Amino acid sequence: MSILTTKHLGKVYEGKVPYTALNDINFSIEKGEFVAIMGPSGSGKSTLLNVISTIDHPTSGSVCIDSEDPHEMNDDQLAHFRRNTLGFVFQDFNLVHTLTVGENIMLPLTLEGVPVPEIKKRTAEVAALLGIEPLLSKRTFEISGGQAQRTAVARAVVTNPSLLLADEPTGNLDSKATKDVMELFRMLNETKNSTILMVTHDSFVASYCKRVLIIKDGQLYQEIVSDGNRRTF
Ligand code: ADP
Ligand code: ADP
Repeated sequence: MSILTTKHLGKVYEGKVPYTALNDINFSIEKGEFVAIMGPSGSGKSTLLNVISTIDHPTSGSVCIDSEDPHEMNDDQLAHFRRNTLGFVFQDFNLVHTLTVGENIMLPLTLEGVPVPEIKKRTAEVAALLGIEPLLSKRTFEISGGQAQRTAVARAVVTNPSLLLADEPTGNLDSKATKDVMELFRMLNETKNSTILMVTHDSFVASYCKRVLIIKDGQLYQEIVSDGNRRTF
């Protein structure tokens, strides 16, 4: 089953000189895949993730996630879709510093109006799965970068999203924390069948992914699958 399909996806940034950041991007991700997008700086990786995650709008083509086109939705539908169907992990964690670790993890459920007993149950489950129970009552400034990203991953998956999106999730982590966080993504992919799409320029990080899409000058250039097979578009 396809979780994500892009068709003729394009993005032109308007300006004095319009700039084509994405040009005719076509690919699909099946349920349970773990995929990296790699490419040189300025090749369009963030733009691609942003138009998939609905942070930005494409100027041509379409994005289909879980059989729906989020770019056709009104604001209310989109807010609900982003909280339930998508999970986000960012380079700088994006935790809310006035809240505890536990409250950060609960946030998407609280915003969706999930009943409190259900919130507590799901938060406890995800904290146990990700090994962060001892951190739940801590403040965000009391934890390390690796622990902060663990918390952000917990917050991203507490809603059981269909697609987990991560933009340079290890960009601010040292090598040990990078490995810890990547082991976490691998565990989620293998034991929960989570579908993950990640932008990275780190080949160690990409080595955890079963398929790597390489983008160059706004176009899909090559696809590498885990047995080392390459396909050039
Ligand atoms: P990457 O993530 O691969 O480094 P980006 O998607 O950030 O690449 O950027 C792709 C290209 O689009 C770059 O040349 C960048 O300068 C340009 N770009 C990105 N955002 C904007 C914007 N808001 N307005 C104009 N150009 C942009
Ligand atoms: P990254 O390489 O991590 O994607 P960048 O430094 O390329 O980060 O971009 C940082 C931000 O600046 C992004 O939000 C991007 O949209 C914006 N940006 C990048 N290039 C341009 C540009 N030429 N004009 C306007 N905004 C840009």
